[in-house]
Amino acid sequence: MTPVTFAPKARPIAIPVRQVLPWAIFGGLLLMLAIYFVGAEEGATSLIKGMHVHEFVHDGRHLLGFPCH
Ligand SMILES: [Zn+2]
Repeated sequence: MTPVTFAPKARPIAIPVRQVLPWAIFGGLLLMLAIYFVGAEEGATSLIKGMHVHEFVHDGRHLLGFPCH
């Protein structure tokens, strides 16, 4: 019977920060945009007229604890 070894066979690839940084900034901007629409797109801070965006993200607003109604 051969002995069982648990040493990892694959090693993770090192990705330089210089290559990750633009994607991290892009993802951060998308997240901030999503947080804006979920948390502040209503009433006086609304950029888009009507209640369509508000109603679309309404459950997310309540799930994340943003004040709503
Ligand atoms: Zn609500």
